Amino acid sequence: MIKFATRTINQFMQQQKDLFAHYKQPSIKEDSYVTGLKLANSLKGSELVPFIPINGRQVNFYYCGPTVYSNSHLGHARTYLGIDVIRRTLRDYFNYDLLSVMNITDIDDKIINGAKQAKQEFLEFTKVWEKDFFSAMEALNIELPDVITRVSDYVPEIVTFIEKIIANGYAYDSNGSVYFDVQKYLADGHTYPKMRPEMNADLLQEGEGESQANKQSEKRSPNDFALWKASKPEEPKWPSPWGEGRPGWHIECSVMASAILGNPIDLHAGGIDLIFPHHDNSLAQAEACFNCDQWINYFIHLGHLNIADRKMSKSLKNFLTIDEVLKRYTARQIRLNFAIHQYDAVMNYSEEQVEQAISKDKAYQEFFQNTKIYLRESQVTGPQKWTQNDFLISNSLRSTKQVIHAALLKNFDFPTVIDAIDKLINQVNVQIANKTVRAPLIQSVVQYVHFILGLIGLNYQTQNNSSSDIKFIMAEVCSIRDQVKLAARKGEFEAISNIVTQKQFQYEKNLSNGIVDCINQFQQQVLAASQEKNKQQLFQLCDKLRDEQLFELGIKIEDKDKEQASIWKQYDPKELKLEREQQQKLIQQKEQIKKKEEEKKKQEELEKLEKAKIHPKDMFLSQLDKYSEFDEKGIPVKDKEGNELSKKQKKVVQELWEKQNKIHNQYLESLKKQQQQQQQQQ
Ligand SMILES: [Zn+2]
Repeated sequence: MIKFATRTINQFMQQQKDLFAHYKQPSIKEDSYVTGLKLANSLKGSELVPFIPINGRQVNFYYCGPTVYSNSHLGHARTYLGIDVIRRTLRDYFNYDLLSVMNITDIDDKIINGAKQAKQEFLEFTKVWEKDFFSAMEALNIELPDVITRVSDYVPEIVTFIEKIIANGYAYDSNGSVYFDVQKYLADGHTYPKMRPEMNADLLQEGEGESQANKQSEKRSPNDFALWKASKPEEPKWPSPWGEGRPGWHIECSVMASAILGNPIDLHAGGIDLIFPHHDNSLAQAEACFNCDQWINYFIHLGHLNIADRKMSKSLKNFLTIDEVLKRYTARQIRLNFAIHQYDAVMNYSEEQVEQAISKDKAYQEFFQNTKIYLRESQVTGPQKWTQNDFLISNSLRSTKQVIHAALLKNFDFPTVIDAIDKLINQVNVQIANKTVRAPLIQSVVQYVHFILGLIGLNYQTQNNSSSDIKFIMAEVCSIRDQVKLAARKGEFEAISNIVTQKQFQYEKNLSNGIVDCINQFQQQVLAASQEKNKQQLFQLCDKLRDEQLFELGIKIEDKDKEQASIWKQYDPKELKLEREQQQKLIQQKEQIKKKEEEKKKQEELEKLEKAKIHPKDMFLSQLDKYSEFDEKGIPVKDKEGNELSKKQKKVVQELWEKQNKIHNQYLESLKKQQQQQQQQQ
């Protein structure tokens, strides 16, 4: 029974392996850059495959961009946040030399319908949604690719590409449209569909949502898909050898990816929903054009996103736009929420799960705050001898690095990375609370945690997530304040009235976090003070704006030299307040220490003065427990038993007497001077 089951499983595994027998693993050459990284390659049934780029450290990377016809949603966030983390990791952790390309699909059935409904010209329509997409990406702190390609800019290249496929015998013109000839392609020994080899031929569909019935007559086989579509009236169209028309959806990625990155390409990524037909068709087209058998070496896919266990869709009313989500959570919290899920696994989005990300975010913030304060207060000049606790943290840092390295090598396993970081942080927190570990070691931990969280795009050290509105407003505010100060210094009060009335700020209050209110108030107060020609008040208002009003909002203005413009920096207001409190505490502590030292010094001087007042003749007379007889100067000659003092003893008391004589004379001298001064003053 067991034997039978094992054999069945083996047969099944063998069958699975054979399905991906077409895949050729790039071989290691002399100049190969081998890191040990393994990727779940869809070209090998998601098996983990060693990642070997074609040219040394260089990695050519293409990923499918959005079709711009509607708001950017949480599905986009998952795909592009995932790709962003992968890009940062390849570049910053593994040190690959990355060239990345993303396309914008601005020719598509959905776009044509959307533009019609909006009564807009289609390129005008797509520009709106393209802008929406990029501002959502910026709000989520997603880095731009090196190259962005738009389909509408690449139509001539698409036509040339299709001509080549036709010339190679793998496509045909029919009724003004061009189709890919799947039968011919397979007959010549190519593989299709490469990433869904288990698919039954009956299930292969074009998948562009168009009515298939009237197209079937144009095709040689139902599996053939369109490379070029003859335009219907009122549709956007471009000239071609087959008549006016527009590109099919899949052809764009084959053309634009190879236009920039050539053939073959190291890495291609996209959402899992694109794997078939889009990605399989893209592969077939490029391999048909270049007559090669492997255009892409590694194909990775970002997993599905469900909302509260259901597929996200407008009809289910669980469709979440990035804008909506950003109103509820910070970009950091959203990024963390995605990073705690493996990029290529199915992910379920729910409020409870975001809570987990929020508490992690808070823990990281606290960690950086606490270590910052710890480092500020710890003195490296203090004892540095390592204790058991130092060894504990040092070993923990090293083992964390090992765990994280292994996790990153294994198809970017960030859930494990985050777990390891959490454990390390917890250990360090305990040591910091007990002040039991040396500062340089904590510095190393902070740097490492900052670097690793940076791969997820989380930044806790320089919080400068200001919107472009704030950037614009603050540049103006600094300039106005500088001008007011300069004019006030020169006493040019009329000029001040002009400066503050010229510019009126009318921005949406929520965009500028209350800055506008505070600026408008400043302008009114400055205007009043300039009319009263009150120079001092003008300076006070400028200081108040810097030290109180803007500071409360997390904005720090730094004044430079008289001639130089002031600069501004934005922080988390809470962080800024905490920092000020800490600084004030430090100043208070310093003042207390100074006060104590001064008191001590005063006391010492007082004691010195009291001692100086004693006449040398009297200094030994009270010491009858030591001496019994004194000479005419008051210097002891016999001890308490009545014995003559030894030579050595005599020398000691003689010296003590002379010392006292000296300070007493100095005292008398200073007394005399004081009296003289008093007399002169009178
Ligand atoms: Zn694509």
